[in-house]
Order: sequence, then structure tokens, then C-alpha cells
Amino acid sequence: MSGWNSSELQVFCNSSQRFLQPLWDCVRNPDALTQSPFFLVIFGITTYVVFCLPFVVLDVLYPWVPALRRYKIHPNFSPTARQLLPCLGQTLYQHVLFVFPVTLLHWASSPDRLLTEAPELLELACHVLVCLLLFDAEFFAWHVLHHKVPWLYRTFHKVHHQNSSSFALATQYMSVWELFSLGFFDAVNVKLLGCHPLTVLVFHVINIWLSVEDHSGYNFPWSTHRLVPFGWYGGVVHHDLHHTQFNCNFAPYFTHWDRLLGTLRLAHAK
Ligand SMILES: [Zn+2]
Ligand SMILES: [Zn+2]
Repeated sequence: MSGWNSSELQVFCNSSQRFLQPLWDCVRNPDALTQSPFFLVIFGITTYVVFCLPFVVLDVLYPWVPALRRYKIHPNFSPTARQLLPCLGQTLYQHVLFVFPVTLLHWASSPDRLLTEAPELLELACHVLVCLLLFDAEFFAWHVLHHKVPWLYRTFHKVHHQNSSSFALATQYMSVWELFSLGFFDAVNVKLLGCHPLTVLVFHVINIWLSVEDHSGYNFPWSTHRLVPFGWYGGVVHHDLHHTQFNCNFAPYFTHWDRLLGTLRLAHAK
């Protein structure tokens, strides 16, 4: 006989909740940085820069490490300091001027920090997956619209396409409208699903990682699209094709929307 009875399921849920409880206790510690009104913006910038950093180091080492060539999507391209620094500068500037006031409002209006119990592991995993699928669908619709309407493309999305060969720090090189749109999709889904604040943090970390990986310019054996079966996940090679060809692969992560609407273009395996 397969399947669990209700008491076994209850035991599993309780143990998975206990598994996350120490982490949640650290997060909601009244003396921790997490309680600061600056936390969300510092968390967002730090996570982004930490995820970009290994790829920046690889780009710096690239001319002296020939073994990296086989993983580089554009072997003859390596970003220069004149490309890297404006991207980093724009991210910092936009976070201080635009993201910080929004996260401050969110902090002031959010009583969730007072929750004492951690989420269950299974609930956290399901919520993160659903948030990713919803974010993917919303950004797909936004992205198609901003490519099909020339005014929208010129005014709001063109800036993200300035780097046709992308690199990690170009991930958040975008207009303020695009940044807010992504932030809105990011925030509305966790609200709709009633996600636990710890789930929200985990979702943000995964979302930032996947977006940085999409723009990294490196196709490694452990890249996410190689770990997800049946070609369901496009990842770095798909998004790189979008940056070089403009008219395909509009979804940031998964492939089903582009497949359904005929805009999926497959990259040649490397
Ligand atoms: Zn685009
Ligand atoms: Zn992009």
C-alpha cells in the first residue's frame, strides 16, 4: 500500500516546520539586521552583487584561462570595466533612489515579521515554485508587449538590450519602469498566495540567482537548464538568444509560454 495516512503526514509537516524554525528564529530576532527598515534593500543589493561576483571574477580571469572558453556562450566577448562599472553604478543608484522608498513602505505596513512559527518545508517549496511560474508568465506577457509595441520598446525596454552579449552585471541594467514592473510581479504573487515572510526571502534569493544566471554568459554543466528535465527550463542559452535575436524566447525561465505561442527558439547544444 502506498501513500501516508493523516497522522504520518502531520508528523512529517511538524518535523519539516521544526527544520526551518531555527532559521526563522534568527530572522525574527529583534536585534537582528532583518528587523531594520534598511534590511530589504540591503538584502536585495547584497544578494545580487554576491551572485554576480563569481561571474565578474571569471570574466576578469577569462583571457588567462583558456579552459573557460568551452563554457562561454560568446567566446570572443569579455566585458570591460567601461561596461561593468556603469551597470553596477545604475543598480546602486536605482536601489537607493527608487527601491529603498518602496521597501520602506512595505516594511512599515507589514505585520508578518511578528509571526512566531516557521513555514513547513513542503509549503515553502510549493509556494516558491508557484511564485516562479507566475512571475515567468507575467514577465512573458510584459516582455512580448514591450517588444511588439515600438514606443514601449524604445521608451522602456531598449536600455536592457544595450548589451547584446550579456554578462552578469547587465542583469539589472534596465529602465526604472522595467525595474518596478519586475518588482511588482515579484511582490504581488507572494501577496496573492499569502506566502510566509521566510518563503518570500527564499523566493527573492532564487529569483535573483536565476536572473543573474540567465545573463551570466556561461553555460556550465550545472546550469539550471541542464538540471530540469524535458527542456522545460530555458535558462542562460535561451535568454542569451533573446538578447542576440530580439524576437524569440520572451519568457525568462521556463519554455512553455514560448512553445505555446510559437516564439521558442532552441539554442544549439554546446
Ligand atoms: Zn527583451
Ligand atoms: Zn535580459
